Amino acid sequence: MHSVRSKYMFCIVCGRTATKGTFCDACFLKHHPLFSLEDFIIYACGDCGAYHEGAAAKRTDIDDVLRTAIEKHLKEGNNVAIRFSITKRQGTTLFVTVTGTGFLSGLRKTETHAIKVRLKKRTCERCIRIAGGYYEAVIQLRGNEPEKMLHKLEGSLPKGARIERIQGGYNVKFVAKNEAERAIKGLKQYTIKRSFKLVGEKKGKSLIRNFYSVR
Ligand SMILES: [Zn+2]
Ligand SMILES: [Zn+2]
Repeated sequence: MHSVRSKYMFCIVCGRTATKGTFCDACFLKHHPLFSLEDFIIYACGDCGAYHEGAAAKRTDIDDVLRTAIEKHLKEGNNVAIRFSITKRQGTTLFVTVTGTGFLSGLRKTETHAIKVRLKKRTCERCIRIAGGYYEAVIQLRGNEPEKMLHKLEGSLPKGARIERIQGGYNVKFVAKNEAERAIKGLKQYTIKRSFKLVGEKKGKSLIRNFYSVR
């Protein structure tokens, strides 16, 4: 009975048969967290209302933003399936309950953490760009019917797009290339010529502006 392994035979916490080192299954799970998660901040843009985490994300659905943020802030939580709900909102603080299910040394565990998410006002990257007059793409409406082209575009222009009347037509400037790319699809019946221009450099990366000449 009293072999060399005897001190490992019983769980050091509850005295049941040890199965995971010095613990039984239940005590092993109790003593090893499945994941950890700290409170964090989500920013809300005062200009456009988008929630973001400082840089690129520009969504308006708080659940979407929360999910991405929770997954990003999750620690030691490999392959943990997450569910969450906002249990209370107090001023700019969200009380969020996060439940994760996953495996620890082959044992299934479900764990619930309560965190606080602070909402802070901060202008999003896109609105900063709009305010600074920045643009990545220009659709140049030319030819015989630039007004008709403009009319086709107008209904679907994103916030921040600027229309300039020039001799022989219009220039429509877009903050982001993908927005121009989306808009140009509405002018498929015309001849579209694409070109690029190097307009500068930022942090070692070339800034290239896209041009779409439409006739
Ligand atoms: Zn035990
Ligand atoms: Zn914004």
